[in-house]
This record gives sequence, C-alpha cells and structure tokens, in this order.
Amino acid sequence: MEFKKCERCGCFFISEDNVCCNCKTKDRADTIKLQNFIEEHGTSCSIEEISSQTGITIKNLNRFESINKIADIDKDNINIEL
Ligand SMILES: [Zn+2]
Repeated sequence: MEFKKCERCGCFFISEDNVCCNCKTKDRADTIKLQNFIEEHGTSCSIEEISSQTGITIKNLNRFESINKIADIDKDNINIEL
C-alpha cells in the first residue's frame, strides 16, 4: 500500500483506487447522473453541454471518460446509497 493523491480533491489517502473514499461516493453519484443524461440525450452531446446540464465538472467528465468508456458504464456495478 502506498499513499496516493486523490484525483478529485487532491487529498492523500491509502487505497487501491484513484480517488479517496469521500470522492468515491461523489464519483458514483456523478456517474449515475452521467448515465441518466446519456440515456436521455445519447452520446452526441459535447462534454461542455454534458457538464452544464449535469453539473459534473469537465475535469471529472474527462476522468470518467478515461477510466471507463462513458457509454459502457455498467449499471449493475453502481450501487449508491443516498
Ligand atoms: Zn478525494
């Protein structure tokens, strides 16, 4: 295990993930918002449009895109407790 810098908030944490546990929750929420947006609007919107309509920052959208192909996000792997 080594210290990692959270890609989302910049804090240091120890985990196998790229974001800290606080941000993991936020990432999941954003992923669901993104998924819902894509279901409604398809994947033809620009990242700026998606950002302004979902409230997800462009930086985070770019991260999600590089982690997962956005359209391939597997809903069954998303479990969120709000
Ligand atoms: Zn974080």
